[in-house]
Amino acid sequence: DPRLNAISDSIRVIPDFPKPGIMFQDITTLVANHLVYKHTIDIFADRYREMGISVVAGVEARGFIFAAPIALAIGAKFIPLRKPGKLPGKVISEAYELEYGEDCLEMHVGSVGQGESVVIVDDLVATGGTLSAAIKLFERVGAEVIECACVIGLPEIKERRMLNGTPLYVLVEPR
Ligand code: 5GP
Repeated sequence: DPRLNAISDSIRVIPDFPKPGIMFQDITTLVANHLVYKHTIDIFADRYREMGISVVAGVEARGFIFAAPIALAIGAKFIPLRKPGKLPGKVISEAYELEYGEDCLEMHVGSVGQGESVVIVDDLVATGGTLSAAIKLFERVGAEVIECACVIGLPEIKERRMLNGTPLYVLVEPR
């Protein structure tokens, strides 16, 4: 698919951000290119339109940029998964390990029903820790995560195509 080359080419790499040694994959240059942004959403929407998906969940913050347009395109509801203390209603929380320390994702109670079919979207998957926490939130409320979808994935996890038993769909590798 030639669109994948355009997507990969549009990602800017910023060395030593946010700290020395990290080659940060910057998707702001992807979404600033209207055609490439549209290609990205089209690929995901075409994949999920016929899968009976009722929920597209986005991981704060860059996941929102991709999840919301996918939800609109396929006629599903959008659910934000947020960092602690951001959602105003009653939440369930799931903590996960970071390289240094811990973080947490929260979801509004009642935003997804038992038996709903979910796709979870983020910009990039590295260890899979963030998405694994997101999957647990939906499992706890009895929803089914059909797949996790990311624009960028490290080669090892991209090729494995699974995240603790949940399918993982990745478009491109880091540049
Ligand atoms: P993981 O939990 O899979 O180790 O890390 C994935 C999370 O880290 C995602 O939410 C992603 O937004 C963020 N992340 C880590 N490194 C990068 C990067 O180089 N570029 C971008 N855009 N996000 C990153």
